[in-house]
Amino acid sequence: MAGLGAEISYDVIIVGSGLAGLQCAVILGRKGYRVLVLEKNEHIGGTLQSFEYKGVAFSTGLHYVGSLDDGQVLNRIFRYFNLFDGIIYKRMDEHGFDVFNIGGRKYAFPMGWAAFGNYLNTLFPDETIAIQNYITAVQITVNEQEIFKLEIPLAVYLEKPSQAINAWDFICSLTQNPELRQVFSALNFVYAGDKNRTPWYVHALINHYFISSSYRVVGSSNQIPQRLFQEIEKAGGHVLTNQKVTKLIFDGDLLSGVLCADGKVFKAGKVISNFHPASTMNLIEPGKIKKSYRNRLEQKTDTLSCFALYLKIEPGRFRYQNSNYNFYLQSDVWYASSYNENLWPEHFFMHFPSDDPHPQWVDHLSIVTHMNFEEVSRWKDLPSNARGNGYKQFKKEKAEKLLALVLLQFPELENLITDYTTATPLTFRDYVGSPTGSMYGTLRDYKYPLASYVGVRTKIPNLYFTGQNLNLHGVMGVSISALLTCAEFVDLPELLNEINDS
Ligand SMILES: Cc1cc2nc3c(=O)[nH]c(=O)nc-3n(C[C@H](O)[C@H](O)[C@H](O)COP(=O)(O)OP(=O)(O)OC[C@H]3O[C@@H](n4cnc5c(N)ncnc54)[C@H](O)[C@@H]3O)c2cc1C
Repeated sequence: MAGLGAEISYDVIIVGSGLAGLQCAVILGRKGYRVLVLEKNEHIGGTLQSFEYKGVAFSTGLHYVGSLDDGQVLNRIFRYFNLFDGIIYKRMDEHGFDVFNIGGRKYAFPMGWAAFGNYLNTLFPDETIAIQNYITAVQITVNEQEIFKLEIPLAVYLEKPSQAINAWDFICSLTQNPELRQVFSALNFVYAGDKNRTPWYVHALINHYFISSSYRVVGSSNQIPQRLFQEIEKAGGHVLTNQKVTKLIFDGDLLSGVLCADGKVFKAGKVISNFHPASTMNLIEPGKIKKSYRNRLEQKTDTLSCFALYLKIEPGRFRYQNSNYNFYLQSDVWYASSYNENLWPEHFFMHFPSDDPHPQWVDHLSIVTHMNFEEVSRWKDLPSNARGNGYKQFKKEKAEKLLALVLLQFPELENLITDYTTATPLTFRDYVGSPTGSMYGTLRDYKYPLASYVGVRTKIPNLYFTGQNLNLHGVMGVSISALLTCAEFVDLPELLNEINDS
């Protein structure tokens, strides 16, 4: 992935090799564009990359994918990208793909909306109307988002009414039952929901994505970017790693290329940014873009970041579970939008990796919980190898606190942990280039649908955005963002037909 000459002029340069950047490169390459992807890191994939720690490969930002059953949306998208070739996906437990412990009460979400409705009706027999209304509201919201069904959008994203409805308020309007409200909201961590801001459509799309069906990648998540890399090369495109773009170069009002940290210049007619809009603005010299637009993108609030604990376990001693385990100390799954640092951690998400199609045991585990960037901001200007003992001590204390909470739920783990490593919001910032290491990019706010929205087009006619900051995060959200970005270059109905026929 290195060694291409900088003198070639490309049709499109994509800055960042996150999932959406790689998908744009495949689509545009297949449509005849000369495409170059520039990635600042040694490895491609953004949050889909995995890392090796003492002989074990840990996935960082992909624990499961939704809507992968035959005919479902992500299944069609993955077929188009040949992501079933050589990659095995394991269907999670259909009777409980996500297990929740919310304030001491346990729930196991079954897969499929009929099963989900039956399950809730059994738990809450007096709430059948609220449950039906909830399911209907999710279906209506998903149906009005045509692009999320791989249909041609009838109206732009912003015109959808669910943009301007608060998710929590809406859930509260469906039932007075405090427990059911929490159960409806239980998947909160996978969209970092903010009680006062998150719009209903984010909740509906994400819940629909995972409840429709949920799968794990067998082996590390890194296989997905690697497979896309092969598709890019097959289509004649190129990917260069260790190429940090430090400046967007202009010819008058239009972009003419990019400058990299090592001084290389790459020329292109169009540029797509696959990373955070505020960080993208930092690459544009003053005067080249309207101040108000720059300010709007720079001042965006992000979703929360996280702290991750990666455990190595003695092989053959800790059973694999075909579900995620979500623990909430309090009976409020929305607590994180106003969490108290002194009470941290009040939650964890435990991922059981499947390195085998039929695993019995795990030899490693990933545990993730919320963390605010402010908690690590005192080290933000120091390079990762110069943060000193204070940072090391911080990570150790946080790891021990998180582990103590985990051991309350899984005491058998106590003597099985052979080693661990951690990731903080600074790690996520450094790996994906978002200012606060946010888990899912910019935060959408139902009160300001327009101001919290990032469009594909920018104020520079030949600069575009793609990725999780656009419309929705997650593997499905960013795949859809790639389609919307490519719609600026190719015929969208034709592309959707190709995907639907894959
Ligand atoms: C802890 C965690 C767990 C998650 N779990 C799941 C899950 O289970 N299921 C799911 O569907 N989603 C999950 N997600 C979300 C999902 O991983 C992301 O939404 C998605 O991968 C983001 O893709 P992206 O295209 O926006 O690019 P990103 O992954 O944000 O990548 C951006 C890329 O741009 C590169 N870059 C930045 N600046 C520059 C520059 N100046 N020059 C060159 N390159 C640059 C970065 O190095 C990076 O490679 C998770 C996320 C996190 C953080």
